[in-house]
Amino acid sequence: MKVSEKPVILEIKDLHAGIEGQKILNGVNLKIHEGEVHAIMGRNGSGKSTLSKVISGHPSYQIISGEIIYKGKELSEFEPEERAVKGIFLGFQYPVEIPGVSNMEFLRVATNSRRKEEKKEELDSFDFEELVNEKLEIVQMDKNFLNRNVNEGFSGGEKKKNEILQMALLEPYISILDETDSGLDIDSLRIVADGINKLSRRNTATILITHYQRLLNQVTPHYVHIMNTGKIIKTGTKELAIELENSGYGNIEDPMQANNPSSI
Ligand code: ADP
Ligand code: MG
Repeated sequence: MKVSEKPVILEIKDLHAGIEGQKILNGVNLKIHEGEVHAIMGRNGSGKSTLSKVISGHPSYQIISGEIIYKGKELSEFEPEERAVKGIFLGFQYPVEIPGVSNMEFLRVATNSRRKEEKKEELDSFDFEELVNEKLEIVQMDKNFLNRNVNEGFSGGEKKKNEILQMALLEPYISILDETDSGLDIDSLRIVADGINKLSRRNTATILITHYQRLLNQVTPHYVHIMNTGKIIKTGTKELAIELENSGYGNIEDPMQANNPSSI
C-alpha cells in the first residue's frame, strides 16, 4: 500500500440485486476510500436509489450475487439497524414521515444507539438538547421542528435539512445522500451543501446521488460515476458532470456495449 493511499471504507464487487423478482443491479463495482466524495448520476430508473437501499440493507431488496464490504466486513452479516449504528447513513430520496414520534425523541434514540457503538456516553434529554441545538445551527433549522412529529407536514426542503441534521448527530463514516438537493430553493441548497462540507472528516466518505451540477459546484466530488441499466458505465472526475450538464447522457457510451449501436 502506498503511504498516501487512504483506507478503503466501502467496496462493492460485482453486485447483482433486485426487488420482487425483478433484477435491477447488474454488476456494480465501486471502491470508496476515506476522505472521498463520489457522485452517482444517471437517468431515472437506472438503479441509483436501488443501490443506496441495498447498501443500507432495506429488507425488500435481495442481493443475488456479489459483495459489499464496509470497513473490511461483508455487510450481509448485518441487519439494517446494525448498519446504521455502525455508521452507514442513508438520506432518503423521499424521507418518511413517522406520525406519533417526536423528531427530538427519534433523533435522541438514534444518536444514542450510534454513540453507544462508538463507546461514547449516551445523552439524557437535557444533554441531548444542548447537542441538538448546536447541530441545528448547521442546517439553520428552527427549534420548533424538534417538537413536531418526524417529517410530518415538513416541506420538501425541511425534510432534506432534517436529513442533514440526522447526519450531523449520527456522525456516520459513510453517508449516501439520495437526491438531497432535489426540490431545494437556492438558499436551502447552499445550507445543505455547506452542511455536507462541514460534516466531512478525513475518515468519512460521501456518496451524492444527484441529477444536477449545481450541488456538485458546492460539494466537489473526487469521482463522478454514471449508472445505466443497473451498473456503472463510466467513471470520471468532476468534469464528467459538467460534460453531462452540457450534452446529456446521449454521448456517454457504455464501453462494454460500444459495438451495439442500440445501447443507451
Ligand atoms: P433511480 O433511483 O436511478 O431513478 P431506482 O433504483 O429507483 O432508479 O429504480 C430502478 C428500476 O427499478 C426502475 O425501473 C424501477 O421502476 C424499478 N423498481 C424500483 N422499485 C421497484 C419495485 N418495488 N418493483 C419493481 N421494480 C421496481
Ligand atoms: Mg432514485
